[in-house]
Amino acid sequence: MTDPSTQRLSAIGGEFIDSERERAFQAERMPETVRHLRLLFLLSALLNTLFFISDWRFYGQPHFLVAFPARAVVVAVSLGCWLAISRVATFRQAQATMLVWQWVTALAVGALVSSHSDLALFVVVMLPSIYYLVVPNPFRWTVISGAGCSILMLVGYLSGDDTRATATGLVLAVLVLNFALVLVVTRSNRLRRLEWAATQAERRAKEELTRSRAMFERLFRTVPLPLVVVKTDGGILDTNDAAVTFFGANRDVLGIRSVDEIYIHPEDRVDLITALKREGRVNDFETMVRLADGSIRNVLVAATLVEVEGADAVISAVIDITDRKAAEERIWRAASHDPLTDLPNRALFQSRFELALADANHTGNTLTLFLIDLDDFKAINDTRGHDAGDALLQEMAERLRRMMRDEDTVARLGGDEFVVIVGPPLRMEHAGALANRILDEMRRPFVFKGEPIESGASIGIAVYPDHDSKPAELMKDADLALYSAKAQGRNRAVLFSPDMRNLVEHRATMTRDIQEALQEGQIVPFYQPKVNLVTGEVIGFEALARWDHPQQGLLSPSAFPLAFNDPELSALMGEHIVRQVAADIRRWLDQGVKCGRVAVNLSTSQFSWIGLSRRFLDILEAAGVPPHYLDVEITETVFLGRASVHVMTALQQFHEHGIRIALDDFGTGYASLIHLKQFPVDDIKIDQSFIRDVDRDSESAAIVVAVIDLGKSLCMDVIAEGVETVEQALFLRDHGCPFVQGNLYSLPLRAEAVVEYLGRERLRLPDPAPSSA
Ligand code: C2E
Ligand code: MG
Ligand code: MG
Repeated sequence: MTDPSTQRLSAIGGEFIDSERERAFQAERMPETVRHLRLLFLLSALLNTLFFISDWRFYGQPHFLVAFPARAVVVAVSLGCWLAISRVATFRQAQATMLVWQWVTALAVGALVSSHSDLALFVVVMLPSIYYLVVPNPFRWTVISGAGCSILMLVGYLSGDDTRATATGLVLAVLVLNFALVLVVTRSNRLRRLEWAATQAERRAKEELTRSRAMFERLFRTVPLPLVVVKTDGGILDTNDAAVTFFGANRDVLGIRSVDEIYIHPEDRVDLITALKREGRVNDFETMVRLADGSIRNVLVAATLVEVEGADAVISAVIDITDRKAAEERIWRAASHDPLTDLPNRALFQSRFELALADANHTGNTLTLFLIDLDDFKAINDTRGHDAGDALLQEMAERLRRMMRDEDTVARLGGDEFVVIVGPPLRMEHAGALANRILDEMRRPFVFKGEPIESGASIGIAVYPDHDSKPAELMKDADLALYSAKAQGRNRAVLFSPDMRNLVEHRATMTRDIQEALQEGQIVPFYQPKVNLVTGEVIGFEALARWDHPQQGLLSPSAFPLAFNDPELSALMGEHIVRQVAADIRRWLDQGVKCGRVAVNLSTSQFSWIGLSRRFLDILEAAGVPPHYLDVEITETVFLGRASVHVMTALQQFHEHGIRIALDDFGTGYASLIHLKQFPVDDIKIDQSFIRDVDRDSESAAIVVAVIDLGKSLCMDVIAEGVETVEQALFLRDHGCPFVQGNLYSLPLRAEAVVEYLGRERLRLPDPAPSSA
């Protein structure tokens, strides 16, 4: 860019004030100046040669002697300058040549015009014009030599004696002429310089344009960002190397293809063009394109409307964001999905649930929530390992996903808890049927590493708007229904009902109370003796839990069944009782009291506590009680539970350590006799319901006799429970039952009362009548 101050022209002379610029102007015009001067000098030489003809009229006159040499000098100097000018290299040298020619010709012409001929007058007036207008001197020298030469020639002309009359007029005419010529030169200089400056500016602009075009072209070609120039009708005008590489096609293929073929969703292009027409440019238009190899990429398009050859076109930069989108998707999935099952996690479920509820609220549709909890999942994890647990969770997730529609939501809330949201047309009346189908699906056998894993679930169902309308409330309802399903023995679906809230509240209070009672030591074992029917000897005791309730007095297990049914409470309870039993046995042993073996009862729930047998053995060891002082009593139901795999493990461990196992309440359950063979059972306890009428009811008697015989044949000890009368005891003794337990001998006793009881005189049955045989 040229500094505007260098463009300024002087008011007089019309030359650039900036000498550098003036020099540049002259230098640039040098060839032309030289050409012009050569022509001037040549013409001067030729014309002056011709003027010899005119000068010939003075032949014989004295003026001839002046004219002839003067003319010869002009011709000679013109030829000399003509020759010299071809050799000059700088404007200064050219200027010197001009000045030499000018002054010499002026001197010569000054001599020539002393003839005062009409021609002389014409020359005096004309020649200054040539000096001013034809000789391209700098302004200063144009004026100096123009005026100087005018004076020289005027002096020459006026040197005669008959010119006095016109001298003043002539001087004034020459003066006017000089002034006029100065003005003309000034104007001409100005115009030429302005024109030159304009041409230069134009040339510079053109160069600039060419340079920037070349730069743009280079940039367009080499920038590593795919660029595509497209007509608004979709025809591709140009692409850069990066675009060719990106789209994976050769330039020609890309050249003939309409850009419509690239878009996965052609309507995206329509949207892009609309936005471009509205805004002129679009910075971050997201779309999907297909590459030549058929692969699909996510791209961000930044586009601008441009004009190419008078028509609208779009230049688009294409940024491949496939990897970024994939990373975003991965991050989103990681944040919103469960990594194990790939189901939505609690957070995503929560937002989908809220949306679904808002939608149902809007449309008046129903929404059903199924809260699913796998039964005994912890046991599977503990016995079969976490691999098996994980595989089971994945399998269950897959089954749920398969059986639900795309519009339903299946999520994993954590642990073994899943949730399903089902929209219309499902209504509350049919929710149970769907829940049962889910249960069937979850019960289907699952094989892991060649071994079947028994699976099952409990389901709580809550329905919008029938049960509640707020997400948190509905979730709570489903939770209560699930809780109820678990409490009812699991493996079932339960529909929420409002009274569950009270039940659950009651259960929660009870749980808290039992926990407190355990901590306070209010739950203690009472001991009921087991007696040898023949000898009357106490063979051991059964420990029975009692709650020494501060307000309600002594409570039997039937008043707080939760302590034995709830998986967590029963584990606490088991440990608590065994610890006290072990301490009591140790004390009795230390006192030298023969307490025999002491039995503790184990409920089905307690078997879901995996380390059960190990824990018991540890407690005995810590108390210093040999294991064979302990018995365990189990009911037939423990064989039927789903934890039967580890029931077997626990019983075997007990058995191996000399802990006897008694099958309690025999005859009331549904266990098959096979279990007596399968499991290491040592004793059978006949349930008190058969004993109650044994001496009066033949059916009870027949059952009792059969069980006694069964025990004998299986080499198991048989103990009759609930013996209250001597008649019952006699019947049992007479039918070969070796042991009894019941209020006839003693009510369950506090530990402190045991020693006293053992020392006391005990009931002796009358001797049996001698056999008639
Ligand atoms: P069970 O193991 O069959 O215990 C025998 C039950 O019969 C005891 O009831 C006992 O007091 C009662 N009983 C004993 N002799 C007679 C009698 O002559 N007549 C009558 N009518 N009843 C008699 P209790 O103590 O109420 O225990 C009930 C059940 O609670 C027990 O039945 C046992 O299954 C369970 N239980 C008691 N303590 C514990 C414990 O510490 N852990 C576990 N898991 N269960 C326990
Ligand atoms: Mg018992
Ligand atoms: Mg019993």
